[in-house]
Amino acid sequence: MLRTSFKLILAALLSLYAFTTVYGATFTPKIRVRIAKNISVVSISGMDLNRKFISDQSVKHYAGRKRIKFNCQNIDYKKYQKKGAIRLVSVNSDTGLVTFGEEKYSGKILITTSDDFKSCDVINEVDIESYISSLLAKEMNGTWPVEALKAQAVAARTYAIYKIRQRQFAKKRGRAKVYDIENSEKHQVGGHFFDATVNTLDAARGTRGQVLLTKAGNLTETFFHASCGGQTKTPDQVWSNIVEGYTSVKCPRCKKSDKQSYIKKITRKRFVSFLSWASKNKFIPFSKNIQRFVVAPDRLKNSKMRVYVDSKVYILEKSLLRRYFGRFVIPSNHFVISLEDDILVVIGKGHGHGVGMCQLGALQMARDGRTYNSILYHYFPNHVLKKIFK
Ligand SMILES: [Zn+2]
Repeated sequence: MLRTSFKLILAALLSLYAFTTVYGATFTPKIRVRIAKNISVVSISGMDLNRKFISDQSVKHYAGRKRIKFNCQNIDYKKYQKKGAIRLVSVNSDTGLVTFGEEKYSGKILITTSDDFKSCDVINEVDIESYISSLLAKEMNGTWPVEALKAQAVAARTYAIYKIRQRQFAKKRGRAKVYDIENSEKHQVGGHFFDATVNTLDAARGTRGQVLLTKAGNLTETFFHASCGGQTKTPDQVWSNIVEGYTSVKCPRCKKSDKQSYIKKITRKRFVSFLSWASKNKFIPFSKNIQRFVVAPDRLKNSKMRVYVDSKVYILEKSLLRRYFGRFVIPSNHFVISLEDDILVVIGKGHGHGVGMCQLGALQMARDGRTYNSILYHYFPNHVLKKIFK
């Protein structure tokens, strides 16, 4: 009996140890955000700058206000190509703020070789909490209610820490990138130091260290989007990869909003090019001999479409339409399609991929007095909130 309890305590201690070492429980993680790529001359300015060459660790201090230029055309890239992209220079300021381009960043600016080994990339290495407080202004709006911003803070922090861990694991296997996340719609859109507002700082501080874990205790990618149109999607419905813990939920507040609806028309010629692409060129291009060309009756909840061309049927994910035509032609993945007089008609609602937390829904819920935890649990019902660093 005693032996069993001892074993249980030991197992608990070991898992706690694993948890703290994986997540770095007592310090604030730093994230590396790629803020620019393929630059030939990198220009950084600021007060009391310190420039460090990574190769020999030599540091030079520039007293007062200075601009440092780094010419990436003079680098012997052949020397580095085998190793993959590497860090070349790091610049920080005694004041804590460094200017790159038109914007000020807190933390460090790292200059690295770019993926094409012809130029440089610029990375901002920053404390994750500063990153979150400036990101909120870009991903949502710094004037939104704090509870909506807090929900966004937790979702964005979870996504960011997932990306940091991905690089840590890749590093162990020797194929890590030099950054965790891209400042783009592909990952999440980060801000700059002065984008943070009182509300975004409150939202970041009020949820400091908190992330969403699945009920099994795993950290996964937490996605979010502008508005779902009335029902969220799961990752497999949109990108065909299954992510643990996702479920599609109703979003009634979003459904009521007429502002988000759209009608788009696609000519049969363009639809045929889409079919060739989507069926990986197995589709035989349209010819006069084709007798039957039908799009099966569609429903909002269908994630797949059926297109009959003579005796063949093509069953394709509807989300491929948005991927092919782009987000300006097809704003969301929440739509129905029909073929009318040779024109494909797309009637839909919402904006964005539709997976995970709906920002418009979160805003309405916060206005109705809901707290950030209840907003998060609505969109991620199979997850639990957990503070992973202090
Ligand atoms: Zn919604």
